[in-house]
Amino acid sequence: MDKHLQGCRRCPRLAAYRDELKHCYPDYHCAPVPASGPAGARLLVVGLAPGLHGANASGRPFTGDASGDLLFATLHRFGFASAAQSRTKADGTRLLDCRLTNAVKCVPPQNRPLGDEINTCNRFLAEEIASLPPKAIVLALGGVAHRAVLKALGLRPAQYPFADGASYRLEDGRRLVCAYHPSKLNQNTGRVSAESFARVLAPLPGLLQ
Ligand code: URA
Repeated sequence: MDKHLQGCRRCPRLAAYRDELKHCYPDYHCAPVPASGPAGARLLVVGLAPGLHGANASGRPFTGDASGDLLFATLHRFGFASAAQSRTKADGTRLLDCRLTNAVKCVPPQNRPLGDEINTCNRFLAEEIASLPPKAIVLALGGVAHRAVLKALGLRPAQYPFADGASYRLEDGRRLVCAYHPSKLNQNTGRVSAESFARVLAPLPGLLQ
């Protein structure tokens, strides 16, 4: 893990919340959640922030909650994960040519990071994006992740509006793809289904050829 990320307390509200949660859930990770997946992967998936009982518990992005269940099932379907489910860090499920991270690395109260927290954490996302190979794809899940990716790349949101399935070729040869976040709320309201999410991810293997 990035030594600056480990134990990071730059956001006082998030650091205090993590401490509080560690008290209630001593077995949970309750620390910044680093990116997971092989170095050099050509697909970087960017979520919002660790889920309280998912990534914040397991220590791995999208591992252990409903968002992760749909994400891993879909990544597996298109060859980016070795299994259709990831419930714990030690379950053996491997990401294939894919890394997972979040716009904000610490679990936020009510699942809502503040603007300052998103900006403060952006340095880590910028490093992750900068280390991607040429022609890599960044898949932003939801509007917050999308804006965080644009900020990390120094791009203007007006030029790259968020829409489910939008796909932009960037000047440096990389690609930015947007999808609605596969959150439990979006699944429950019908905004995202297994089929609609799969439609957005289906072109990715071809785009990497
Ligand atoms: N888990 C994550 O790691 N990120 C999200 O955005 C949602 C759940």
